[in-house]
Amino acid sequence: MAKTATPAENAQLKDIIGHAKEYGFVYPSSEIYDGLQAVYDYGAYGVELKNNLKRLWWETMTRVHENIVGIDASIFMHPTTWKASGHVDSFNDPMIDNKDSKKRYRADVLVEEHAAKLEKEGKAEEAKQLTAALARLLEAEDLAGVRDLIVNTGISCPISGTTNWTDVRQFNLMFSTQVGSVAEDSSTIYLRPETAQGIFVNFLNVQKTARMKVPFGIAQIGKAFRNEIVARQFIFRMREFEQMEMQFFVRPGTELDWYKQWSETRMNWHLALGTPAEKLRKHDHEKLAHYANAAMDIEYEFPFGFKEVEGIHSRTDFDLKSHQEFSKKKQQYFDPEVNQNYIPYVIETSIGADRLFLLTLCNAYTEEKSEEKSRTYLKFHPAIAPVKAAILPLTKKDGLPEKAKEIVDLLKYDFNIIYEDAASIGKRYARQDLIGTPFCIAVDHQTLEDNTVTIRHRDTTEQERVAIADLHGRIAEATSFRRIFEKI
Ligand code: ATP
Repeated sequence: MAKTATPAENAQLKDIIGHAKEYGFVYPSSEIYDGLQAVYDYGAYGVELKNNLKRLWWETMTRVHENIVGIDASIFMHPTTWKASGHVDSFNDPMIDNKDSKKRYRADVLVEEHAAKLEKEGKAEEAKQLTAALARLLEAEDLAGVRDLIVNTGISCPISGTTNWTDVRQFNLMFSTQVGSVAEDSSTIYLRPETAQGIFVNFLNVQKTARMKVPFGIAQIGKAFRNEIVARQFIFRMREFEQMEMQFFVRPGTELDWYKQWSETRMNWHLALGTPAEKLRKHDHEKLAHYANAAMDIEYEFPFGFKEVEGIHSRTDFDLKSHQEFSKKKQQYFDPEVNQNYIPYVIETSIGADRLFLLTLCNAYTEEKSEEKSRTYLKFHPAIAPVKAAILPLTKKDGLPEKAKEIVDLLKYDFNIIYEDAASIGKRYARQDLIGTPFCIAVDHQTLEDNTVTIRHRDTTEQERVAIADLHGRIAEATSFRRIFEKI
């Protein structure tokens, strides 16, 4: 169950949001117009970090696993896709408004947060009963019952403090727009709310053209859009976000073994990236979606509590079967090993690139305080750090900048490098710490004599003397994805 954030934890999130903005990671969208709720832009270091995370995921899927290939489907899809997938009829969240504050909430989240509060107060049994009652009412689609539960439990609006609630209504999360230049000819299409359907409708195209044999997977990274009712917690819940999804097609009857395997593989991936085991946990779904026969989330302990980062779902043959029905095109695979035609079953792994980004930022954000000094730094795994090394001439004269630029040229085609010659060396180190650069390379007078430099390590602040000739190899070794791949 979700843990409600304490004021101290919220303060930490506030620090992280402030840091992300000040040091070029994430800004509110169209900020000069006061922003747009739940939409964000990535800055100079943010985009590098996000690209590295996406590349790591992509290469894990498509290189480490020989039987997974990628695609890049469009955001717009034929509208019947969303009929077949069930999104037109049931991609809804129950919402409720407080009449006094005029604030809108997700009814289920209000109840869950109240239950988490009860649990914190030591009323675990009461909390359990409350969440069980909610699950029963949602299952029965009894929205009046959900409202009664909120009112009878005395759940009040955090803003107005009153229990003056409207009815609970279903709210479809898909954004729609019109295609076609003439109003009469135009038709409604949707901005995809998930990338998965682009994979399903291309299942046979990919299987045939890439000559894949079941079991095999199709991976995709792309934007998804959801008109979220409650947009809070920074980039945790956005209206425009990016998903990294992989659909793994298997022989019917083998899906639960594959589900177990993928659950473990994905958890290991997070651990290999350096996320501490105690900050991660598995959450098995008790209430399964209509298409699933097993589902779990990988949750991370954000400053506001344990929350979902990634979902692993055994989706049966629901999607392909439904597309077969709606399109009237067979979605079958002939399996030569068992000499049979069948619609494959699917295991899905689905992670939000932005949520992974937030996890990475929270995990990296380190405040070190000792009697002599205090410093803040971002302890990114070197393989995903936005900048790999900063080249810093000690002074702006005596040929040191020229020498430093030679080193930049030596490294820049393989690594994202920064050159900086302004301010004191201490200030320049501090600035690189704030954006998480693992290596600072100082060029001094000795460099001119013996072609060595000082490497200062971000996490320990220790320094060592290294030959320029060894720099490329050292950085390559530390920042290679290989080390992560080997642990999965
Ligand atoms: P939640 O319960 O948090 O709304 P969900 O169960 O609807 O998430 P899925 O549909 O399973 O999420 O989507 C898979 C992944 O996509 C999630 O684990 C999350 O990382 C990411 N994701 C979903 N919605 C958002 C969003 N609004 N903003 C950012 N990332 C999201």
